[in-house]
Formats: sequence, structure tokens, C-alpha cells
Amino acid sequence: MNPVLSSGAREDQLGKRTDIPFFDQSETFRRLWPEIRENCVRVMDDGKFSHGSMVAELERALERWTGARHVVGVNSGTDALVLLLRAAGLRPGDEVVVPAYTFVATATAVVHAGGVPVFADIEPHGYGIDPGSVERAVTERTRAVMPVHLFDSLADMEGVTRVARAHGLTVLEDSAEAIGMRSGGTHAGLLSTGGVLSFFPAKTLGAVGDAGALLTDDDAVAETARMTRHHGRSGRTLAAFPGISNPTVVTGCNSKMDDLQAAVLLAKLARLDADIARRSELSHRYDQRLRDLPGVRAVPGDAPHAPGRDRVVYVHLVEVDDRDALAAHLAAAGIGTEVYYPRPLHLQPCFAHLGYRPGDFPRAERVCRSALALPLHADLTDAQIDRVCDEVERFLTGGTR
Ligand SMILES: *Cc1c(COP(=O)(O)O)cnc(C)c1O
Repeated sequence: MNPVLSSGAREDQLGKRTDIPFFDQSETFRRLWPEIRENCVRVMDDGKFSHGSMVAELERALERWTGARHVVGVNSGTDALVLLLRAAGLRPGDEVVVPAYTFVATATAVVHAGGVPVFADIEPHGYGIDPGSVERAVTERTRAVMPVHLFDSLADMEGVTRVARAHGLTVLEDSAEAIGMRSGGTHAGLLSTGGVLSFFPAKTLGAVGDAGALLTDDDAVAETARMTRHHGRSGRTLAAFPGISNPTVVTGCNSKMDDLQAAVLLAKLARLDADIARRSELSHRYDQRLRDLPGVRAVPGDAPHAPGRDRVVYVHLVEVDDRDALAAHLAAAGIGTEVYYPRPLHLQPCFAHLGYRPGDFPRAERVCRSALALPLHADLTDAQIDRVCDEVERFLTGGTR
């Protein structure tokens, strides 16, 4: 069983009870069940599981919540990235600079949109793409750069935008993890031409399956994405096709969001601010206990954040040398963890043909060896966080060595 999807105190792959699962939404569902059920029943009564009104309702609610001019609901964060890249005008063979340290979909989306991913390293003191490394990756074929906002912090958008301007590149954001993160009041994904949201169940706002959205202030990007998600069809009647209401305008996909996912997300959205506040409290509790332990490296969560930046903790990481041993120790104590991300993208087999070598992006490679994500979701109790901290402390202060 994927520990990300495990729920409650169930068994992990080893058949062992997981007392503090890495992620669990069962309490959220218990609490929100009346609202979720009401929305789902509305969809079922309506009988419109696709093209119903719930997706549009969620889109308008997310536009209000994020301040985006357009939110386009789709079936996953990954497809939102593909649609964003296509709508931004990526042409076959265009290069897009992405970080070597991120979820693999950041780069595979570039391939699905017809482009070629080109990797750059992350910053020395953060997990975002390093503008200097972006500058070195630019060639005459580079068309765009796509920073990723990972875990709890925005990438250095000022630095990336400066490099992009100098080389005439489009900036797009993989803001799949960044719901609620803002800079100077502007939501992640709107600090460039456009961004995405993922509603994968374990994300800060999670669906009960796959769902995602594209967000942009650009009318043309939104219009193209709306057509592309629905087989390339325009909702409007074109003069050239009298009487035919839905002409196929672009080569589209089927990337629509299900109305039942929208029904659940709309109910959960009402609690998002409270969830974000609780996540922040819990992450702060981890920081207080763990930041000064021997062998724990400072992570961005420890760094003072620039004024005007709203921090949202999607994932709480620690970085330690003996990462795999710590994960094993915690697993033995019934505590679930996850490795974000186990392998830098330039060393993934699917990108072997691009010719990168170990050592090309030392910071990305180091973090892949040392980062471990601890349990963090809004339903955890203070006592559970303390138990995780006790076990991390026991491990680091020699309890098992
Ligand atoms: C979750 C995630 C995605 C993909 O989103 P899905 O909804 O799972 O397709 C892309 N990029 C990053 C950085 C993510 O964390």
C-alpha cells in the first residue's frame, strides 16, 4: 500500500501497525461529511458527472480564494502542467528549464507538451531553482523556465524573472504544492504567465482521487486550456461552422475534472484556511523541537521569510545524513514518513538520453540523499508531533547507534 494513501491506523507493507500514518484524512471526512454528502447528492440528483455545474462552481470559488482571473479545473496537476505549457505556446523541440529536484511530473509534462526539459540546480539555502543555474542552462532553443514552489516556500521568482527577461523566456510556475502561498498578496501561479494546482489526495487541498487546476490572469491562455481539456472544442459557435455549436479548434485531450471531485473539493475549501493555520502550528512545533538537534541541517522552514510572503507548509522536511536509517527507525516506531524526492530528475532512467551525469547538480543530489518528510496534516495532534520528535531525537542522540 502506498503510505501516502494509507488512512488511519492500518497496516503498512510489512504488516506492521502504523500508529502515526504519514497522511490521513479520515478525521477530515468525518467532520465534513454532511457538507461533502450534500454536494455529492446534488451532483447525483443532477445526473451530470461531467460538464455539470459543480466544476464551474469550484472554479469560481477558487478564483475568489486565489485572486486568479481564471481557474480551469482539470483531471490532475500533471495535466494542468501539460495544458499550461501548450497554452503558453510551447512548440515541438522548445527547451524548458526546470529544477533537477522536484516531482517527476514537472519534467514529464514538458515532454508531453512537445518540449525538451533542461535541468538546473537548486539554491544553496533552499529547495527552489537557482537563477544562476537557470542562466547557465539557457541555449538558443530555450523557450521557457518553470520554477517549482516546493514544500513550504516560493521559489525565487524575482531572480528567475530577471534571467527570463534577459533571455526573452516565458515564465510558468509548477505551483502544484503551493495552494495558499503568496508573495505580496499575489497567489502562487499568478507570479508569472500561469501556474497549476494539484488536488492529489495528499496535497494541502486534496480530492478523493485525482484532480487539478490551471490558474492564470491571461485570457488567451485560459481559453486555450479550456478548449484543450475538452477535446479541443470551443464552447462558442464559430461563424465558419453555422449551426455546429462545438467546433474542434485545437488538438485537445480529455482532461476534464469530474464533478464529484469538485463536489468534495468545494466542501473542503471552506476549511482550507483553518487547515493551513493548523499545519503551520504543527510545523512550528516540529521546528522548535528539532532544529537544534545534532545532525539536523537547517531547512528553509528555519530561514527567516521575506516580508509579505505567506508561508504554507505542505510538507515538513528534515535533512539528516543517515536519512534511510532514520526512516527505518521511525517505521519501527509506527511512524510513517516519505522521501521527497528519492532521485534527482537528471538521473532518472526516463531522461538518460539527455546525457546528464552524477555530479551535474550537486545540491539536488545531496537533498535527494538526506531529506525526509515527517507526518503533517491538519488532523494531527500536538501529542503526535511530540511523539515523532521524541523518536527523531532518540535516533539522533544515539538511542539506536
Ligand atoms: C503533486 C505534484 C504534481 C502533480 O500533480 P498530480 O495532481 O499528482 O498530477 C506536479 N508537480 C509537483 C511539484 C507536485 O508536487
